[in-house]
Amino acid sequence: MNSQTIIEHEGAHTSGAYPKRQLAIVRGEGAHLWDAEGRMYIDCVGGQGAANLGHAHPKVVAAITEQAKTLISCPEIFYNDRRAELYDLLISLAPPGMNRAFLCNSGAEAVEAAIKFAKLATGRKGIIATMRGFHGRTAGALSATWEKAYREPFMPLIPETSHVPYNDLEAASGAINENTAAFLVEVVQGEGGVRPGTAEYLCGVQALCRERGALFIVDEVQTGYGRTGKLFASEHYGLEPDLMPTAKSLAGGLPFGACLIAERIGEISTSTHGTTFGGNPVGCAAAVAALHALHDEGLIERSATLGKWMIERLRSTLPATQVREVRGLGLMIGIELRGKVAPILRALQEKGVLALPAGATVLRLLPPLVISQDDLETAARAIEEVLTAQPELA
Ligand code: PMP
Repeated sequence: MNSQTIIEHEGAHTSGAYPKRQLAIVRGEGAHLWDAEGRMYIDCVGGQGAANLGHAHPKVVAAITEQAKTLISCPEIFYNDRRAELYDLLISLAPPGMNRAFLCNSGAEAVEAAIKFAKLATGRKGIIATMRGFHGRTAGALSATWEKAYREPFMPLIPETSHVPYNDLEAASGAINENTAAFLVEVVQGEGGVRPGTAEYLCGVQALCRERGALFIVDEVQTGYGRTGKLFASEHYGLEPDLMPTAKSLAGGLPFGACLIAERIGEISTSTHGTTFGGNPVGCAAAVAALHALHDEGLIERSATLGKWMIERLRSTLPATQVREVRGLGLMIGIELRGKVAPILRALQEKGVLALPAGATVLRLLPPLVISQDDLETAARAIEEVLTAQPELA
């Protein structure tokens, strides 16, 4: 099928829920994607964070192939060899104090699990999230998501969910009380504009939660698995979350999630939560291969080094007339523009570079961590050219 046919057929039947780009991607390798006509693109979308390992990583492909020939379906009512292996590995890599995980299929589901477990463990109802936070689109996760356009058509959502300003410890202190089951926060707000939290804020919220009997949930769905230059962004500040939803790149790009659980949460009683595909053997095999590859190929350090280089590169050369700020952590990078991001994304696509928005004015880069410095340089030059060609805004 050529691109036009793909777009026509998919366009005729897709739900309509997604803002689509006029581009049909049919193949990927490393940090490169190809359309149906064989045109190559440098990928700074990275599967919206699911492709940290790069596309078609050979070790992930081999693990999926091998496991698919052996066993695809095996619900968690049974034990399974690949799942046992993943639990061992994941817990050995988790922040201190975490000893279990609930395996699921997506980020929103991992957040739902965290919210439910927090309510069960504390017997309290209140969930506090942050302004500009994003936690997913299912009802519980959506209640904690800030963006009104996502939330308002579905009100009322889960009661007793509130939002406080991010990076504002005083506001957090004013909000956490004896009804608070959990405070839910990202280490770097992703969809909300690539906004890093400060150490003082994140450590401060954790301390307030401990002091007042509330649980500290760190949403690592976007920041996890090497994206910020550590396996988990929590490691930058020595955070010890009580619950930690993760997903996206955990299984090398397959739909897979895990809500990590601290020992101090106590027992989670049988039948309080579950999902058919959670911990499926193919996803577990892919996740084991992906975690090994992240480590063995030095991709986490690579994210730290290349991210630092790219942020400096962009800061020193992008036109101040078009750019307010370049910020980020590792290869999670946001360029806050003085104007709208949508036309910039279109112009970049024409130049063969795919990137993401994070809100209306932030250009977000989430390249696979295997990306070469040359490709990052090409992407940086394309961004520079596209912004320089814009009419001056400042
Ligand atoms: N939490 C965060 C921080 C996210 O960035 C996302 C997705 N962008 C989610 C949760 C939801 O993940 P999913 O799309 O897999 O449901």
